[in-house]
Amino acid sequence: MSTIKEYVAARKAVIAEEIKARPRAPRLSILQVNDNPASNAYVNGKMRDAKELGVEATLLSFPTTISEEELLSEIRRLNDDESVDGIIVQLPLPRHIQEEAVKWTVDPKKDVDGFHPCTTFEPCTPKGIVEYLSSVGFPFVGKNAVVLGRSNIVGKPMAKMLLARSCNVTVLHSKTSEEDKAFYLAHADLIVVAIGKMHYLDSRFTYKKDAIIVDVGINRGEDGKLHGDALPGLPVALQTPVPGGVGLLTRLALMENVMEASKK
Ligand code: NAP
Repeated sequence: MSTIKEYVAARKAVIAEEIKARPRAPRLSILQVNDNPASNAYVNGKMRDAKELGVEATLLSFPTTISEEELLSEIRRLNDDESVDGIIVQLPLPRHIQEEAVKWTVDPKKDVDGFHPCTTFEPCTPKGIVEYLSSVGFPFVGKNAVVLGRSNIVGKPMAKMLLARSCNVTVLHSKTSEEDKAFYLAHADLIVVAIGKMHYLDSRFTYKKDAIIVDVGINRGEDGKLHGDALPGLPVALQTPVPGGVGLLTRLALMENVMEASKK
């Protein structure tokens, strides 16, 4: 079984070849309205991936004083620009700009993050996870899948995509009792944890020994390093690492969506 790094490298090589064979490079516009270090790191990662694969990515940085209307008209301009295939707006946004208004303004045909309610794309994190699980032969149909977290960008679309593949899906959240969590986790063939609580899944829970744990969480520990929502080394068949796990799958899925957008 290949590691996530090997899997991503192999997929990237295929995408790069496909892009080379096309009459023109896919074009992605990234809008950033903040200057926080985590966002800068995400944007730099996306710009690096784009360069590596032959996607023409443009970063448009705006001061945090930009008004909501100015940002929306910038998005509309890119919606109307036929040379732009994909648009992403890096989160978070300043408080005076409504995230929903921004998500609803991006043309669903260019919404490569998959955030618009009528988007034609799958959101990158769940898409990357499902494609990776398929690549390792996870059988999906009739398997017990537990999704911890119900956010709009990870938990909910993840649950929907697993249900579409005929998993028996249970979504747990902050109002689920510890006792119920222990029950569902003990019966899970697949656990996707996306709650933003460092090492929340640990040895106080029991797991099926052939279970897969997909760790979406990204938490900065007191050691200054990044840690997942699951303690490394749990007694399961496969546990994705943090860093070097779901983050890479998410970035890969974004590039796949950009490719797809350029075909539309
Ligand atoms: P979010 O919007 O903060 O939502 C967190 C979810 O976790 C909520 O649904 C919350 O429940 C639930 N939750 C919180 N504490 C819980 C607990 N003790 N037990 C069970 N559920 C609990 O989170 P998000 O945006 O989905 O992100 C989650 C984590 O994934 C973060 O660490 C984020 O940085 C990371 N992330 C990583 C990637 C990647 O590419 N690797 C992508 C996106 C996000 P309620 O709804 O009841 O409040």
